[in-house]
Order: sequence, then C-alpha cells, then structure tokens
Amino acid sequence: MARYIEAVCRVCRRSGEKLFLKGAKCYTKCTFEKRSNPPGQTVSRRRPKLSDRGLQLREKQKARYTYGLLERQFRKFFNQAERRAGVTGDNLVVLLERRLDNIIYRLGFADSRAQARQLVRHGHILLNGRKTNIPSYLVKESDKIAWRDGSKNSEYFKTLVKSIESKTIPSWLSLDRQNLTGQVVSLPTPEDIQPIFDATAIVEYYSR
Ligand code: SF4
Repeated sequence: MARYIEAVCRVCRRSGEKLFLKGAKCYTKCTFEKRSNPPGQTVSRRRPKLSDRGLQLREKQKARYTYGLLERQFRKFFNQAERRAGVTGDNLVVLLERRLDNIIYRLGFADSRAQARQLVRHGHILLNGRKTNIPSYLVKESDKIAWRDGSKNSEYFKTLVKSIESKTIPSWLSLDRQNLTGQVVSLPTPEDIQPIFDATAIVEYYSR
C-alpha cells in the first residue's frame, strides 16, 4: 500500500500553518513557530502571494495531508462526493471524516490519524465484532468499534486506558471509557466537523 513518507513537519511548513499531523508532539515539541519558512529555503523570507489556483491547490493539499491520503486516493473520495446528492464540498468533508482510521483517531484511541491507520492495519481493531485491516472503510451509523482481545494485553492499550479519561470526543460518536469501545451514534454533518480547509476551494480546484 503506497503512503506518504515525506517528513510531516515539512508539510506544515509548505502549507504555511500547523496541520497537527504528529499527535501529541504537535502540542509539546512543535518548532513551526520558530521555523515556518517553506521547506527548501535556507533563509526565512516572505511567502510569495498565491494565485487563485495556488490557493485552491493549497486547500486541497491541506485536506489531503490532514487525512494522510495520496492524490489518487483523495481524487477517488472527491469523485465519490461529486456523484452523491447535495453539496460536493460538504459530501467530501463527511466522507473523509467517515474513514475508519479517522474514527479511531476521533475516539482517542490514537494520537494522530497516521497512528490510527497503523492500529487498523496491524489488526488491533474490531469492527462490529470482526477483525478489519482496512483504514479507508467508511463507517455507517451504529457501527461498533472495539479492540481485539489479544491487543488488550499490550502496553499501549494499558496506557490508553489511563489516558483516555481526559480525551474529548465528538457528539456523533459514543465511547465506553471502561471497555474502550466506541460506536457511531449518527453520521457526522459538515457543521460537526469544522474542517481546517476550505472544501469549496477544493471543488473549484477539481472543476477546472
Ligand atoms: Fe505540524 Fe505537528 Fe510538525 Fe508542528 S509538530 S510542524 S503541527 S506536524
């Protein structure tokens, strides 16, 4: 499975803002404020003014990196969003948010979506009682997420049980903090999500 392997902090520097791609480290060890010039430049200087096309591209890249997708994968999501009834930008935001790796992240089982994807890929997660290793699976209403019994003996799980108390989760998900199981109460709406990118600009980017 292809994946994005560039140093993630460079992605933030290229986007010109913090995208919080490294989980807890983004709050404790981030050097973005000290070094926010685009990668490849040895001296700090003003960013060039972007054209409309450049701004649209930047929003698309922000969305893509936030959810950790390659261009081909992201385009598939966009095409799916376009085929559905309703506003394409809203459809895109909701579809991205419904990815299983994102749900694991939102439930607080992982610090970042990259880590969540790894948990799914390594078979630690049960979806409706069955093992799954597909991070791109789109959850449905009432889907139940749990840990595989064998994974509950890991040090990671034991630490998580203690740290999950302080985590907040979105209203469209429910979490049993004792057993570390989660459920999709309802599908998210665009208002629930409040993405850090402009979905309308992404639609415009692909409409040309
Ligand atoms: Fe971005 Fe996080 Fe790296 Fe800071 S630590 S630059 S927020 S990925």
